[in-house]
Amino acid sequence: MSDNCLFCKIIKGDIPADILHEDDEILAFRDIAPQAPVHFLVIPKKHISGPSDVAAEDEQLIGRLMRVGSEIAKKEGIDHFRVVFNNGEQAGQTVFHIHMHILGGRAMDWPPG
Ligand code: IMP
Repeated sequence: MSDNCLFCKIIKGDIPADILHEDDEILAFRDIAPQAPVHFLVIPKKHISGPSDVAAEDEQLIGRLMRVGSEIAKKEGIDHFRVVFNNGEQAGQTVFHIHMHILGGRAMDWPPG
């Protein structure tokens, strides 16, 4: 846990969130500013700042994000969806606790902006 991290505060329950899934390792909740009809974030409870900071010991945990996120997407009724990890400010990362965006429910353009 990191004291100044927004997502660590959500994990601790200090900041409310619309939670879709919680287990010992992972939390998933709806994005507060959705960019698609379905837009949620899947995060590890372990504080990892971003994709560049994933260590070898985290490989299984990061793989689980994908499995849990896909299961939630199915429950949310989206079988076509986009998965995004932003890494670093210039890539659009604003919260420095690794998070997987899952967006769906509309057609997506490529390349992304
Ligand atoms: P990033 O830009 O990839 O770092 O994504 C951070 C995401 O967190 C953005 O899509 C924000 O809308 C979202 N976000 C920020 N604060 C909250 C919150 O309190 N609850 C849920 N989502 C949040």
